[in-house]
Amino acid sequence: MIGSMNTQDLIQPDEAAMQSWRRTIHQHPELGFAEFATSRLVAECLAQWGYEVHTGIAVTGVVGTLRWGDGTPRLGLRADMDALPIQELTGLPWASRTPGQMHACGHDGHTAMLLGAAQALARLQQDGQLGANGTLQLIFQPAEELGGGGGARRMLDEGLLERFPCDALFAMHNYPGVPVGHFRFREGAFMASSDRVLIRFNGKGGHGALPHLAVDPMLPAAATVLALQSIVGRNVDPVEAAVISVGRISAGDTYNVIPESAEMELSVRALRAEVRERLETRIRALAEGQAAAFGAGCEVHYQRGYPVLNNSAQETRLAVEVARELVGPACVMDDSPPISGSEDFAFFLQQVPGCYLLIGNGNNGFGGGEHLGPCSVHNPHYDFNDACLAPGAAFWLALGKRYFAR
Ligand SMILES: [Zn+2]
Ligand SMILES: [Zn+2]
Repeated sequence: MIGSMNTQDLIQPDEAAMQSWRRTIHQHPELGFAEFATSRLVAECLAQWGYEVHTGIAVTGVVGTLRWGDGTPRLGLRADMDALPIQELTGLPWASRTPGQMHACGHDGHTAMLLGAAQALARLQQDGQLGANGTLQLIFQPAEELGGGGGARRMLDEGLLERFPCDALFAMHNYPGVPVGHFRFREGAFMASSDRVLIRFNGKGGHGALPHLAVDPMLPAAATVLALQSIVGRNVDPVEAAVISVGRISAGDTYNVIPESAEMELSVRALRAEVRERLETRIRALAEGQAAAFGAGCEVHYQRGYPVLNNSAQETRLAVEVARELVGPACVMDDSPPISGSEDFAFFLQQVPGCYLLIGNGNNGFGGGEHLGPCSVHNPHYDFNDACLAPGAAFWLALGKRYFAR
């Protein structure tokens, strides 16, 4: 007699299928909110495996729900689906067939990995290996790359968590340079908030020879560029992270005219909500103060992008344990340094406890030019490493088993 002990090991994510989905999606990259073919592929697969499928959330988002017993607890796993406006230069057989668009961040891999896990999780559930009760919410999200107005925010605005409640949420991103099969975690703040600020100084234009009859907006603008760094240096605790970068200044058209106005744009990042608040307060006060000092007017348009991504303690510890059991403690880092980049999964984690983790992508890319080192995401030579598919999906499976067994 073959008992359930044996079938337990038989149910594994289908690696060949995952690779095939990954390369199909890679060949047909789609930008944020236009992931129509990708979303169709996802929906068809999920439906075939017995998931209740909901499409059209934030245009192209898909949620697959599997519910058994009384439906609790509810576990959410999220993958992003969008590509980038980059011309692919890998020359690989499965390279993008769409000029100017490519999967240069590995979201093709994230989607394929979660699909592989979805198929295996459904079979585990049918086999009785996911406990008596539970709900799986598999969230395939559009437009992660679009900044503050991206897919996560829009899915939440469209009532994602009311329609598909989750008690815990997890997401995974590949990380070039970290060996394949290695996992990285960090409890608390893992990725930075990202804000965009426009400051405009309004003066009174005039002749360059008659400055006393004008109000020159160049002076408060120039003084503000220098003074802004005093916020990082003097107003933020030295052990906290804060970045203020002036990326654009524009004013004036020619040498002998004092312009009416001068404007600049800043990128502002922090790893703690309190620091983010402090930066906004100080940037406003400082710009307005400089304007007043030089007799000019001032407008500050502070546009909040992604919040700080905060991994909750309990869920991160659970995920770390699952990874350690799966690949061994030597391949798991539980105190990965924080990253100054941003990620819109942060919006989900503001509402539901959970964990965003990294999986090593190895030294993929540069077509074998190993001497160039690992190829970073958003590079035209980047390719998601198919060797990550098996460990990535296996992690989702192990997490599901562990989560529903509690
Ligand atoms: Zn990206
Ligand atoms: Zn990405």
